[in-house]
Amino acid sequence: MNFSTVEILGNLVGFDTTSRSSNLALIEWVRDYLDWHGVSSSLVGDGVGAKANLYATIGPEDIGGIMLSGHTDCVPVDGQDWSGDPFELTARDGRFFGRGTADMKGFIAVALAAVPALKAMPLRRPVHLAFSYDEELGMLGAQRLVEHLSAMPVRPQTCVVGEPTGMEVVVAHKGKLAMTCEVTGLEAHSALTHKGVNAIEIAAEIIARLRRIGARLRLEGPFDNAFDPPYTTVHTGTIEGGIALNVVPKTCRFGFEFRNLPGVNADDLLSELRDFADRELLPAMREVHPQADIRWLPLTTYPSLGGADETPFFRALRGVCGCLVKGGGGKVSFGTEGGLFHGIGIPTVVCGPGFIEQAHKPDEFVAGSQLELCEEFIADLVRKQCL
Ligand SMILES: [Zn+2]
Repeated sequence: MNFSTVEILGNLVGFDTTSRSSNLALIEWVRDYLDWHGVSSSLVGDGVGAKANLYATIGPEDIGGIMLSGHTDCVPVDGQDWSGDPFELTARDGRFFGRGTADMKGFIAVALAAVPALKAMPLRRPVHLAFSYDEELGMLGAQRLVEHLSAMPVRPQTCVVGEPTGMEVVVAHKGKLAMTCEVTGLEAHSALTHKGVNAIEIAAEIIARLRRIGARLRLEGPFDNAFDPPYTTVHTGTIEGGIALNVVPKTCRFGFEFRNLPGVNADDLLSELRDFADRELLPAMREVHPQADIRWLPLTTYPSLGGADETPFFRALRGVCGCLVKGGGGKVSFGTEGGLFHGIGIPTVVCGPGFIEQAHKPDEFVAGSQLELCEEFIADLVRKQCL
């Protein structure tokens, strides 16, 4: 393995980039590292100066190349039982332990370690590095990055998102649309139900409707058997409302989500739900209390990834060493930033070292053998696509 991959990974893991904290110390370290190797980078900030994406191009600037994309933030370690310091890289039995090693500083370390070799090559097409913030909070950084990329005169031609797939090439994942619904009714004594608007009961009607939409998708599809489960799912996960049993509740809030297959539009499902609420529930609520309301507040949304298997880029990956292409390409249940990049016309696959089963957990690790495969993959990909 490239010695600097481990050295760089050690540096990256040393920055506590839990999503609630700033990632700037890590980003500045990466910027300095790239500067040192003669590569200039631009930062795309979050607007308040707390976090930033980094974007850099190695090779010609007047033509699109391969974008290697990774998120710099990681999930918290709170309440997890780690054997050692999660923010200090530890090597044991060919494995590298630390928060973010699998998800996904391992990939970023391999990409950065390749920079000196890339600089020395007569690249015909460039390699772009795109490192984001707040992926774990709903891909907020990548959304800004996509705006930035869309405005650029030359965009990347293809993209590899290095989320941990065991170096298998993944071409599809589900999308997600998560919302909070807030029902405002009218308080009354519970003996006088006709004088109030019961927010909990209205919320229950909307949740029952969500359940029916979920059941329809489960029974009637559309289906894609490469996913587990093979249909779009609907789920309500939180609810709160009411202050006492003898008071008609004025407010009720609940959180729900759609996880949609590629080809299923989650906005259409949300519209169906909102139409139901507007037509069947709101008029009767407002007859009793004109200020009664149902509000819809977005939580997280990211698009599905699909269609990458039909691109020449995917077909070209069959001949690249270090990666694994099974059948028509893998499909995974977790979301990535890939759907956003694919959505602006950059053919994108997901392929990175480590496994999602080892992410987000205590004693998260990436195996050295996975990092080696990733080194081989990036080197061969560049040889075949950029020289
Ligand atoms: Zn990740």
